[in-house]
Amino acid sequence: MVNLDEFKNVDLCIVSKKQSKENILEYYNLGYKIFGENKVQELLEKIDIADDIKWHFIGHLQSNKVKYIVEFVSLIHSVDSIKLVKEINYRCNKINKIMDILIQFNISNEKTKFGLKIDDAYEFIQNCQKFTNINVKGIMLMGPNCDDENKIRETFKTGYKLFESLKQKFPSISILSMGMSNDYKIAIEEGSTMVRIGSLLFNEKKSIPKKHILNSK
Ligand SMILES: *Cc1c(COP(=O)(O)O)cnc(C)c1O
Repeated sequence: MVNLDEFKNVDLCIVSKKQSKENILEYYNLGYKIFGENKVQELLEKIDIADDIKWHFIGHLQSNKVKYIVEFVSLIHSVDSIKLVKEINYRCNKINKIMDILIQFNISNEKTKFGLKIDDAYEFIQNCQKFTNINVKGIMLMGPNCDDENKIRETFKTGYKLFESLKQKFPSISILSMGMSNDYKIAIEEGSTMVRIGSLLFNEKKSIPKKHILNSK
């Protein structure tokens, strides 16, 4: 099984997409309370698992679906347009909630990825300040889709620099969400404060019985 001590110095968002309630409860019962989902419908099917789970929304979010989730999520990692900020603000205002959000950046500049350009960071976050029901807690980014460790590290270094400079200007910023199953070690070395881990936790767990059978022969 994964050694969960690896995550003791960062916040661990357990990505539970495509996982059953039973699988989620196994980690919940170990004391983990932060779970991340990337699809609105799937999140809504899971919110009754336990009252004290902090659901994070980590996937691309369409403005017309914001109204379904604001009541249930504690952090949205994937905010990438003012239109979306406006809608979150509007829906949260109606239920008297201040929503913590992360701004997603596309640092590796891949066409397939969502997120802002670094150059737009300051102005965007400045713009967010006028929305009374929005609290910008930090930034989120993904490593490049490749096996080149240097490239991945470069991306995370750039993300960390951006995080540090934004933190100077905006005191509400304290979260740097970067690192997934295949690159979290590098992300943590480069200053991540929150990792989003799915397959590593669930797939390895599933393989335990198999290994056990092999070993017992
Ligand atoms: C699926 C997903 C993750 C987790 O990916 P794993 O490789 O399974 O750890 C993290 N962040 C986002 C935005 C995701 O969609």
